[in-house]
Order: sequence, then C-alpha cells, then structure tokens
Amino acid sequence: MTFEEMCLDPRIMRAITEMGFEQPSPIQAQSIPIAMEGKDLIGQAQTGTGKTASFGIPLLQRVNPKERHLQALVLCPTRELAIQSANEVRKLAKFMHGVKVLPIYGGQEISKQIRSLKGGVQIVIGTPGRVMDHMRRHTLKMQKLDMIVLDEADEMLNMGFREDIEAILDQLPETRQTMLFSATMPKPIMEIAKHYLQHPELVKVVKKELTVPKIEQYYYEVNPRKKNEVLSRLLDMYDPELSLVFCNTKRKVDELVADLKGRGYFAEGLHGDMKQSQRDRVMNGFRNGRTDILVATDVAARGIDVDDVEAVFNYDVPQDDEYYVHRIGRTGRAGREGRAFTLVVGREIYKLKDIQRYCKTKIRRQPIPSIKDVSAIKAEKILEQAGQRIADDNLGHTVSMLEEFLDNNEYSATEMAAALLAMQMGDGAAPVVAKEDFGDTGAEPGMVRLFMNIGKKDRVRIGDILGAVAGESGMEGELVGSIDMYENFSFVEVPEEYARAVLESMNHSKIKGRNVNMEPANKRS
Ligand code: ADP
Ligand code: MG
Repeated sequence: MTFEEMCLDPRIMRAITEMGFEQPSPIQAQSIPIAMEGKDLIGQAQTGTGKTASFGIPLLQRVNPKERHLQALVLCPTRELAIQSANEVRKLAKFMHGVKVLPIYGGQEISKQIRSLKGGVQIVIGTPGRVMDHMRRHTLKMQKLDMIVLDEADEMLNMGFREDIEAILDQLPETRQTMLFSATMPKPIMEIAKHYLQHPELVKVVKKELTVPKIEQYYYEVNPRKKNEVLSRLLDMYDPELSLVFCNTKRKVDELVADLKGRGYFAEGLHGDMKQSQRDRVMNGFRNGRTDILVATDVAARGIDVDDVEAVFNYDVPQDDEYYVHRIGRTGRAGREGRAFTLVVGREIYKLKDIQRYCKTKIRRQPIPSIKDVSAIKAEKILEQAGQRIADDNLGHTVSMLEEFLDNNEYSATEMAAALLAMQMGDGAAPVVAKEDFGDTGAEPGMVRLFMNIGKKDRVRIGDILGAVAGESGMEGELVGSIDMYENFSFVEVPEEYARAVLESMNHSKIKGRNVNMEPANKRS
C-alpha cells in the first residue's frame, strides 16, 4: 500500500512529500486506513516504526480546522515525547491552514499553556498528569472531543499513569474514536482496551522468519549532528570500493549526497522521485566505478541490480526489521567479505536491540573512530599494498635510484619512506583543518583556549587529559599547550589549526567514564 492509495487530503500528501517519506512503514500501511474510517484501533509495534504518523495522519484527516475547539487528544508518557510528537504532527499539518497542535506537559508554566489553549487548539498532545490538571481547571474541555490516542500505552502504565488515564477516559464523550498504541501488550493494557475501546481492530506488525547473512555488523552511537562526520570517517577508514548507504527519506538522500560531494566523495543518490533516465545514469555510474557510494531509500534500492557491494551503511536505523535484513543482504554475497554499519541516535538503540533479537544476529558496538584511527588504517592499507608490490615486482632499478639518492643526502631510508607514505596518504596523514578564528580566548598567540567540563573532582590527572586530547584528535601530544585544572572544569590550550578537530572529536568521547563537553573559552572583551 502506498500513501497515494490511501486517498489522503492533498494538503497532508504535500506535507508527506516534503518530509521525504517514500512509502508508509508497515504499521502505517495497516493502521491509517482503519483509523481513517473512524474505527477503534489497537496498534502494536516497536519504537521507531512510525507510530506518530500512524495516528497523526488520521487525526489530521478528520479534524475540522474551521472549528476552534479541542477535537483530538493524544496522551503520551513524557514531556520529550509530547514535544517530539507535536513537532511531527505539526509537520504533517504544515499545509492545513488553521490547525493548531499544542504539547502540554508538567514543568512548563501552566499559565502559558492556558493562554495558548485559549487561542483555540484542535489537537493537544500531553502527559496524563498535566492533562488532568487542565481538565480540573476547565481549561481543557472534552465535551466535543472526537478522537483520543494512547501513545506508548505500556510506558504510561509503567510510569504509574493508569489511574490518570482511566480518569481521563471516563470523562470523554462515548461517541469518540479511541486508538491505543503500544510496543507490548501486557494484561493491564488489554484490560484498558476491553473497557474503553469499542470493537477495536488489532493491528500488529507480523514478523516473518528471516535469515540474516553472516557478515560483520557494527553500530555506532552518534550525536545526530555528527552523523555525516562519522559516516565519512568510516568511509575513509574502511575505504570500500563500492558502498551502499541507506536513508529513511528521499529528502535525507538528497541532503547527504550533497554533503558527501562537498567532502570530495564520488556519491550519487537514488530515490523514487527521480526520472528513469536519471536513475539509469546513476546506476551506470555505479556499475562502471565512476560512483563509489550510492545513497538510496529502501524503495529505490529494491529496484537495483547491484548486489555485491563491499559495505552497507545504515545512515538511519531502518523502520522495519525486514528492511534491515534486505539492506545488509546487499553485501557479502558469494562468500566475499562484507560489512554492515549502522548509525544509532538516542532511543533508536531500542529499535536496534529489537532487530538483533528478532533477526537472531549480533550487531557489535564500536567506538567512533578517531582521526588517528582513520590515519592508522589508511597507512596500514598503503603499506600492505607496498608489501605486495615488493613481492610482485622487480624493484631493482628503483632501489638503486633510491640508494644513490640516500647516499648523497642526510635522510635515513625510514624517513624517506615515512615522507612518501605521508604524501600517499594525503590529508589523512595530518588531520589539520583550516585555521579558524575563535577570537581572543585568552590563550597564547596561535593557540585557542578550550573549556572542558572535567576537573579535579573527576579524579582525572593532567596526563589523562593530554592523552585524551591527543588520542581523540590525532594531533601530536607535544603540540598541546598548557592545561589548567580546577575543581569542576579545566582549560586546555591547543594550536588554532587543531582546535576544530579537538572540539569535534572530544565532544563524543569520555574521560574516565564521564561524557566530555568542550567548547572555546569565553571571548575576552
Ligand atoms: P515511533 O513512534 O514508532 O517510535 P516515530 O513516529 O517517532 O516512531 O518515527 C520515527 C522516525 O521515522 C521519525 O523521524 C519519523 O519522521 C520517521 N518516519 C515516520 N514515518 C516514516 C516513513 N513512512 N518514511 C520515512 N520516515 C518515516
Ligand atoms: Mg512514538
């Protein structure tokens, strides 16, 4: 089932296109049509499977923008989820003029929420406690409510919201539609469903037996803003001849291809919005080696006949276990080596655990490679090739040329080899980024003073900090300038041209188990 086949409001369709969704996820494909008919629904699916749009699209489809009263209420367990879901529903509602979506949760000033509610809100997404609070104050009026969603119902029960949820449900109009989404269906959820839902349809993402190819699989926990940087380090480190990178949306494919091209990679994108001629051009480039990296959505990759890629990268964790298996099945064919890498952000780790459990496969966590690791691997590859060359070739003439040269100069053969290796490695040998102006941070000339949230109280020594800064960024330890430690924090001075690399590498590292936060010291005025 496609989004087109769902006969959605054209304004919602336009938003979906803009968000770059190419096809409904399995839970969406099953639940949206049922929910659009106004039926009660129980949806069971894991985190990260697209449940927000599963109820968000039907809510928007049925909401009347001309009426200003509350029409739909979504209950969810935490403030973060309320905000996240509200943002997703707002994106879906982008072209529906007059639809107001408001997250409400504890910890935010209630007067502010009351003012927003008075302005007329059709969809409220909130935590049970705060919703109860507003109901008591009559700032949320339920009389004309058409739809209620219990999102992450099992989580809400775990957090002790059962009584609140039941109290809220008891006050809603009998005629409303009720949808319940949950990753698991323990007994109390079934009891609530039995009591409060009317002839619900049960939608469950059923799982087929899948065989996972026996290839090495790794994952990296990344900061969402660092995804491109981490991907390019992995590409540099493993240097695969052909790689396939998967994104969940068409939009992400376009953005990532632009970024990779900017970083000097031969990358092209493939997704459902492209014309056949464009797709052919991209595929030809990939087949004849002009393109090393193909970035694709799941749908687009289905149609391609390139099987044997050396590495598969899941830039986004796939929305369905089955997609994971299809994706990584593109590598390691015919007994050749293959690797699969997955970038994981925050809560997506649960999705990955689910994939592991259900696919009975092991995906190993790896630390994000530092620039130094990347250089070491590059060097190893080059030296291996050189060794091969020595074994294969008659180097006699070159050897005598070099001997003659070394006789007349003061370099050792090792120094000469090191220089040639560095040249061969290009930028990777010296992780120097262009000098960047950090203003006057109070450091020595040519240096930048960096603040770090690690201090004496963390039982860390200066040597630990020095080792971490040099190790993570790949710069020589002796280039690190003065390090001043205080009780709760420290200052580290590094040369201007390394400051960016130090900040980037340190900010996803740990020292003695503590997450490091590093930033340029405040400018002197
Ligand atoms: P869940 O509630 O099941 O944990 P979410 O609704 O939060 O999952 O969705 C997870 C992510 O997937 C979000 O970033 C969302 O924008 C994205 N997403 C949802 N549906 C699709 C789709 N059909 N195609 C691509 N991405 C999607
Ligand atoms: Mg959710």
